Amino acid sequence: MSAEQASAWGASGDHCPVMNNYGSPSRLFVKGEGAELWDREGKRHLDFLCGLAVTGLGHAHPVVTDAIARQADTLTHTSNLFANELQAPVAQALNRLLDAGSGQVLFQNSGAEANEAAIKLVRKYQGRGRHVMVSALRSFHGRTMATLAATGQPEKHEPFQPLPDGFRHVVWNDPDELERSLGPEVGGVLLEPVQGEGGVNPADDSYLRAVREICDDRGILLVIDEIQTGLGRTGGWFGYQSSGIRPDIVTIAKGVANGMPVGAMWARDEVAEAFKPGDHGSTYAGQPLALAAALATITELERIDAPGLAREKESTIRSLLGEVDGIAHVRGRGLLLGIELAESARRGRTAPEIARACLDRGLILNGVTPTALRIAPPFIVSDQQLSEGVAVIASVLHDHTEES
Ligand SMILES: *Cc1c(COP(=O)(O)O)cnc(C)c1O
Repeated sequence: MSAEQASAWGASGDHCPVMNNYGSPSRLFVKGEGAELWDREGKRHLDFLCGLAVTGLGHAHPVVTDAIARQADTLTHTSNLFANELQAPVAQALNRLLDAGSGQVLFQNSGAEANEAAIKLVRKYQGRGRHVMVSALRSFHGRTMATLAATGQPEKHEPFQPLPDGFRHVVWNDPDELERSLGPEVGGVLLEPVQGEGGVNPADDSYLRAVREICDDRGILLVIDEIQTGLGRTGGWFGYQSSGIRPDIVTIAKGVANGMPVGAMWARDEVAEAFKPGDHGSTYAGQPLALAAALATITELERIDAPGLAREKESTIRSLLGEVDGIAHVRGRGLLLGIELAESARRGRTAPEIARACLDRGLILNGVTPTALRIAPPFIVSDQQLSEGVAVIASVLHDHTEES
């Protein structure tokens, strides 16, 4: 078993040097280009997942590659003791695309860190005694201790108890339920515009508007987690924008640097001011190398009109999937879609098992619930590649011979 695992990582011998945190990997990829990946056996795969909604411009995008190479050759890292030339332009671009009023950005290295910073900012702004954060059941906000506590999936909490306190969960998409959970101890509400890991469950625009009003009435900060949904993926620059609300804090990561580790927390000016020098920090965060990738990615996403492409490709995918028998419904927005499979098509198989069968036929997607597949293809995917991918899904759903 251990030798097998070592070999899955490309290592020899009986001892696998990499922890078994993600299970035994099913593929080892060595090269990517656009919407395609090649494994070490040279087999081509279509990537409909983008490393979980990260590489929206596709793999090895020349604009991003160039920016990284030039920056690596110029200046990689200086720490936050000093300014660099990249933080202000990336923060300005985010401020502009968020279109939620004047705000400021604190850079981080990941989504969980961006949410961790947001949780700390809410506590600092609201003060002790008003520190409780309310989030939704089935939400996902990260794996650090505080973001895990904010994540509304009790089964993920269990092995790590006791978690930090001050977190509470309510039923998703129900404003009355949320309002009932609030007391004077609540300082923030944290929501995704589309729950990604929870099964691709979009919030109703009316829900976000009602929550905004409830938070305004009570002086509660509304934090929107755009880590999976941001930067064009849902067909707008950010998922909350279709509701017309303005959040107090927005967290960003995944798609912002096409695969380089960048997280960001934006807050409107008055809220941002609660953080004073020394309140938070990170050695790597905001370093020139990662932010050069972010600046190039954002510039290119704007040039190609990523939100427009997401809407266009969504309708292509929906009509292709409409021709496939055995799909109960398709949910989600833009290029973040959940495909709910009918029992007649699953025939006792779980969605993760069906995803595995798709992988064996060269298509990367994932089973996001026991009965639903998730796809998050890159903006640059071609219609030809979309047809090819949907044909793989159809063949896996309808090929009765594979079951032995
Ligand atoms: C992925 C994700 C996170 C965590 O981001 P990491 O970079 O993995 O720490 C948080 N919130 C949402 C909505 C996510 O999809």
